[in-house]
Amino acid sequence: MAERDEVLADLRERSRYFESLTTLGIPRGSGGPTAPGVAPAAADGAALAAIRDALGDCQRCKLAKGRKNIVFGQGNPQARLMFVGEAPGGDEDEQGLAFVGKAGQLLTRIIEAIGLRREDVFIANVIKCRPPQNRNPELDEIESCQPFLERQIEAIRPEVIVGLGKFAGQWLLRTAEPISRLRGRLGRYGDGDIKVMPTYHPAYLLRNPGAKKEVWEDMKVVRSLLE
Ligand code: URA
Repeated sequence: MAERDEVLADLRERSRYFESLTTLGIPRGSGGPTAPGVAPAAADGAALAAIRDALGDCQRCKLAKGRKNIVFGQGNPQARLMFVGEAPGGDEDEQGLAFVGKAGQLLTRIIEAIGLRREDVFIANVIKCRPPQNRNPELDEIESCQPFLERQIEAIRPEVIVGLGKFAGQWLLRTAEPISRLRGRLGRYGDGDIKVMPTYHPAYLLRNPGAKKEVWEDMKVVRSLLE
């Protein structure tokens, strides 16, 4: 009987998750003060501000000349959960904020599906400037941005980082394995105790909605790590 209840609860939860992913648009307000991934005290963000200052009007790689805005990343400086994506797209370049386009709206719903709000987590990318025509990031660009993302992770010290897509998964785990092999397998960032969950990128989910079920499985693991 208990097993049946568990299965039913899981199905209900799964259907809420899928429901939350069906409509893109204005993100629902949700979460609340007791959401499990919320750090207890508000941080002043000084460490992140210092990293942003060090980045300055970055000209360290060839992407500087084509960008409108540096997308540093945003969110709770004391987040227990961090998301790392690939690179800013057009909307992000315009606004200087990570994941604000269609893929970002889907990411909001994924975050809300585990009982958190966007402002509870921190969202960043492997690289901070938009590549021309949204092409893949190149090695020299990733290397130029690397020290800044590393310092952001050190400052935030999240318990869990979700790597969205191939570039983030590979960067976080220092591997060349394809995302199809990495996803769903919990790893570690460096030799510390920050856990890394690689999963599919929301932009991939927009093209392949059938893969949402795998992301849901991954996010359930993430949620349980934060409980
Ligand atoms: N895709 C990403 O990887 N990052 C963003 O910020 C937006 C889209």
